[in-house]
Order: sequence, then C-alpha cells, then structure tokens
Amino acid sequence: MNYNIKSITAKNSGPTTSNGTNTYILGNHNLIIIDPGPDDNQHLENILKNIENKNVEYIIVTHTHKDHSTLANKLAEITGAKKIGSTKDFIKNQEKNSVINFDIEFTPDIYLVDQMIIKTEDLILKALHTPGHTSDHFCFKEETMSRIFTGDHIMGWSSTLISPPDGNMGDYMSSLSQIIDKGKNEYFPGHGDKITDGKSYAEKLLQHRFNRKQKIHELIILGNKNAEELTGYIYKDIDFRLLKYATLTILAHLIDLEKEKSIKSDGLENTNSTYSKI
Ligand SMILES: [Zn+2]
Repeated sequence: MNYNIKSITAKNSGPTTSNGTNTYILGNHNLIIIDPGPDDNQHLENILKNIENKNVEYIIVTHTHKDHSTLANKLAEITGAKKIGSTKDFIKNQEKNSVINFDIEFTPDIYLVDQMIIKTEDLILKALHTPGHTSDHFCFKEETMSRIFTGDHIMGWSSTLISPPDGNMGDYMSSLSQIIDKGKNEYFPGHGDKITDGKSYAEKLLQHRFNRKQKIHELIILGNKNAEELTGYIYKDIDFRLLKYATLTILAHLIDLEKEKSIKSDGLENTNSTYSKI
C-alpha cells in the first residue's frame, strides 16, 4: 500500500536537536502523526496546514523527551486524534523522579507495548520497544515500504545521547542490534535527514559504540579515571555545548562495563565517580 509521507521540522534547532525535531505525517485520508514536537505555535500551524482537514486517527510519541511530545495534548484536542505513547510504569517512575527533560504532562490514551500494531485504512505500523536513549523509547516499522521511524534511537546527524540513570548503554546496544536484524530499511529519524541505507548506517553506529567501549576499558586498565577525565582523553576538539552530553554518554559506558564486571566503581554512579580495573 502506498501512502503519503510529510516531514515537518520544528524550529527548535540546538546542540542536541540538529535543525529541530522532525514531525512525520503519514497516510492519504486517515493520518498518523509521529512525534508532534515542541509546544510551539508556528510548528502547530505548519502541522495543521499539512493535515488539510483530513482525519487524524493517531498521534504517536516515540519517547517523552519534551522536544518530541509537548505539542501532543494540544494537537489531540484540535484534531480529536488518540494519543499513543509511553508505558504506564515509565510515567509512574518519571512522576516520582520529576526529571525535567521528560514531559510528565503527556497523557497517552493508549499505552505502547512491544510489537503493538497500529492500523489505519492507509497503513500499518508495528511498535518496537527500543530502550537505551530513554527506557520508554519505541521505533515504528512500516512493512510495505520498508520504513522505520527511529525517533532518537537512530538520528540522521549524530550519535544519540545516553544519559543515566534512565539512559542505558547496554540496552541501547541491544536495541540497535534489534533494528539491524530487521534488515534493509529506510530510516526516518527524529532529528536530521532520512537515512536511505539504514542497516549499514546502524551497523556503523553499533561498531562505533563497541570501539568506544573498548577504548574506555583500555584507558581504565591504564589507570583509575572518572567520566569527566575520560571525556578529556576521548573527545579532543568537542563543541563545549556538547561536553556534558559526551560526559554522560561516557558514564553510560562505564556503568555498562561495571555491570559486565569488566571494571568497578567507587560505589557511586555519577560523572565524578572513580572507576578502576578488576
Ligand atoms: Zn530524546
């Protein structure tokens, strides 16, 4: 089945968002919107213009980082669409932690579970739980055109941020393998351009993470270090605005290596904790 696909990029460009968040509108008559994006009036207007008074059945959120979900409630009110997103447990946890990057105002009508089918007259999507960037992250596979909507799991411009404690490197790497196993697909990311040969792109990302993990392990074998020190060794010419994100991603690797019992920590799990060889 052929169906229209429109991509609208919100004007929230920045060091972690590239040109901005991509909102996808899928379908011919009965539409699905993936990642409505930030709560911004101009973005809302652009989306409404592109909907052209057609019926919007579902608004899907890949994960509840604010730049992906905050327009969902307003857009659902205007269009009457059902909101699909995050798991119940995840929302419960975030309410407890009240982590600022997460959109705890987002209230799905339908909670995602792995392998859930989302169907309209125009197309069928299968939800794939892909934890790592966040524990509630989902990608969406459309079979007939071999497309995967990858959110922030696989982005078109940079490797993704893994920020502990919710971000988890071990989960991220297995979720990447899961997407690679789906074979050749075109990827439509939450940030950056469409990726035509998705499989080899994801394989390169996975290889990069393996190499980085190995490098971190080697550096710890040479002497005790914390995530901040390792960032200095690994990222030589990094944009200072990305420094804290790079440090968090290194911490995610350290936690993963510790879990595998390849290294040990001083008992804490933060960017100042010292890690040493076993
Ligand atoms: Zn995100």
